[in-house]
Amino acid sequence: MVKARKYVVKRYFQGVPKKDDFELVEYELPQLKTGQFSVKAEFISVDPYMRAYGYRRPIPYDQFGFQIGTIIESKNPDFPVGCRVVNHQGWCDYSVVTDLTENHSHVYLLPDLQGLPIELALGALGMPGVTAYFGFLEICKPKAGETVVVSGAAGAVGSIVGQIAKIKGCRVIGFTGSDDKVQWLEKELGFDKAINYKTADVNKALKDAAPKGVDCYFDNVGGELTAAIYKQMNLYGRVALCGCISSYNEDPTTYKTSSLLPLILYKQLKVEGLIVSRWYEPENRWPEAIAALAQWIKQGNIKARSHVTEGLDNLYDAFVGMLAGENMGKALVKV
Ligand code: NDP
Repeated sequence: MVKARKYVVKRYFQGVPKKDDFELVEYELPQLKTGQFSVKAEFISVDPYMRAYGYRRPIPYDQFGFQIGTIIESKNPDFPVGCRVVNHQGWCDYSVVTDLTENHSHVYLLPDLQGLPIELALGALGMPGVTAYFGFLEICKPKAGETVVVSGAAGAVGSIVGQIAKIKGCRVIGFTGSDDKVQWLEKELGFDKAINYKTADVNKALKDAAPKGVDCYFDNVGGELTAAIYKQMNLYGRVALCGCISSYNEDPTTYKTSSLLPLILYKQLKVEGLIVSRWYEPENRWPEAIAALAQWIKQGNIKARSHVTEGLDNLYDAFVGMLAGENMGKALVKV
């Protein structure tokens, strides 16, 4: 019998998630049934949607999320013992995979990462990278010479979007939350300009950085920052609305009409929301994005960074740390 540990959310988060909203539960893994396999986790992801989507589930629920692990026992010939697998088993060290399409995400053998570190399968070569790739290329449809703005620019998705925009010949401006991140974006990732939204006069800084206005905006954060960026969008600008992390700690069931609507109207903006699963169902195009991103990383055109915390016991700290902006690149926990 394998003893396993998992995080259970026992009450809905109010504001910033609290440590005692979770309970670390020990239990014995059940016997496998036909089609199932069990996994020992190696890396577990912490992501903003864990804050945003919990209220949709009945309490208590097992904390969901992607992880990479090794198959230790199997009754499924497509998932043999010893192979590595990307799954959505969440915050647990051992688990039995019973449903291959749980929560609109999916379970797949670790793709060919062309020799790159396996943990990238949770970041640039996993869900966040796929989001950046298709979200930016297919919704913003960037053209060389255009000005692109990315918010949440030093995070898992944003840092990849900005580098793809550079590959496509765009001028790239990133908004982020610390001077260290500004340095990283400008000096290492090649952003033309990075702006600390916490300390800068955002309107003035953007006007200086984008004197001809903004053609494409990849929005990871929403809120006041997004309003300031919309003000400087050009006619027929394109916005990929990927995330609204600035409001995830607020009540998710109250919606307000936004003063952004007149701006969208007058500037005739095209604003499109995206959920990364649209490139999985009905047709799985994730491998296409992962292969392209791996090539760019190997060629040195994209730098993929992981922000790794050690230990299952530190998952909560890694999670709230990510929400507070401690991470540069993809926030992960190694177990
Ligand atoms: P990140 O790695 O970017 O981590 C979150 C970052 O958000 C923090 O590092 C912090 O950076 C920033 N942040 C936190 N609070 C605020 C705030 N109030 N205002 C502005 N920035 C803030 O996470 P991901 O790259 O995984 O996700 C980025 C966004 O993309 C999220 O909104 C997420 O929900 C969304 N997403 C959407 C997907 C989809 O399918 N639609 C798929 C994946 C992600 P800083 O220091 O800059 O403040």
